[in-house]
Amino acid sequence: RAKSAGGDASAIYHSRMTRRASGRLDLESDLRLALDRGELRLNYQPIIDLDSEAPLGFEALLRWEHPDHGLISPEAFIPIAEETGLIIPIGTWVLHEALRQGNQWRQQIDGAASLTTAVNISGRQLVAKNFPDIVEAAIRDTGIDAAAVHLEITETVLMDEPDLPRETLQRLSRLGVCLSIDDFGTGYSSLSYLKWLTAKTLKIDRTFIRELGEDPRAGTVIELVLGMAKSLRLDVIAEGVETLDQLGELRRLGVTRAQGFLWSKSIPSDHVPAWLRSRVRKTAQQLQ
Ligand code: C2E
Ligand code: MG
Ligand code: MG
Ligand code: MG
Repeated sequence: RAKSAGGDASAIYHSRMTRRASGRLDLESDLRLALDRGELRLNYQPIIDLDSEAPLGFEALLRWEHPDHGLISPEAFIPIAEETGLIIPIGTWVLHEALRQGNQWRQQIDGAASLTTAVNISGRQLVAKNFPDIVEAAIRDTGIDAAAVHLEITETVLMDEPDLPRETLQRLSRLGVCLSIDDFGTGYSSLSYLKWLTAKTLKIDRTFIRELGEDPRAGTVIELVLGMAKSLRLDVIAEGVETLDQLGELRRLGVTRAQGFLWSKSIPSDHVPAWLRSRVRKTAQQLQ
């Protein structure tokens, strides 16, 4: 018994050592303070209507401005936030901040009254029993129209989250928010979750967009997804559109919404009003 306990202890010690070596432990304790220190902020990337090339809304994307390490990508720190549970306070902050900001643009900028705000939700947030209460409070506190709120949940979370409370998705759709299936196509999915999910939007993962024009099968997959989305009455957004060739292919296939560096990278909130005004001008010029 003593031996096995000793074995465990040394395994823990060893894993601490490797974590420390990778700087992981430092990041973990820094992340605990990041929210209070105001080091987290949201960038916004427009989602584009391909007919008019006008923005339909924005996706909020989290950024961490670390005092020593500079900008840290969400792909590097969201997993830490999930493992430590910090994603709960951080995610609640993201919801409030994005909905507040989105509502402000809707009310204060000409032509922005119907813009939507999309927020990424991690699995850990979604399975918390009070998640619908948190969403409801954010909507109430910020005053945004619930129908303008899109919650993005990755396909993988929807597929393999056995702890997801049954009533959570029902309560969310009763609130009037829209659910989006994010990174669709990466889950090697059984698709069976689509039966009970009350989603509105499906976002095709950018790996498929990247292959467009290179691999003929990428177009075939997108056609399949579009057919399926049509019968389920889901809107489709293509993620990660970077080139005019990809845009041409997507239009040919019948995709009507997209997001990507072709129009804009994610930008800080204070750049959004100027970006919106320049878009309105461009669209007006195209119409002349
Ligand atoms: P996502 O939700 O699929 O977001 C799209 C990612 O693709 C963003 O990366 C965006 O900057 C990037 N992207 C957009 N257009 C293009 C393009 O044309 N080309 C390329 N190469 N990339 C493009 P980002 O901001 O680094 O976020 C990465 C992921 O981190 C997100 O993927 C999302 O899963 C997660 N994330 C971001 N913010 C949050 C958040 O507030 N909460 C949670 N739980 N996850 C978040
Ligand atoms: Mg997303
Ligand atoms: Mg995505
Ligand atoms: Mg992603």
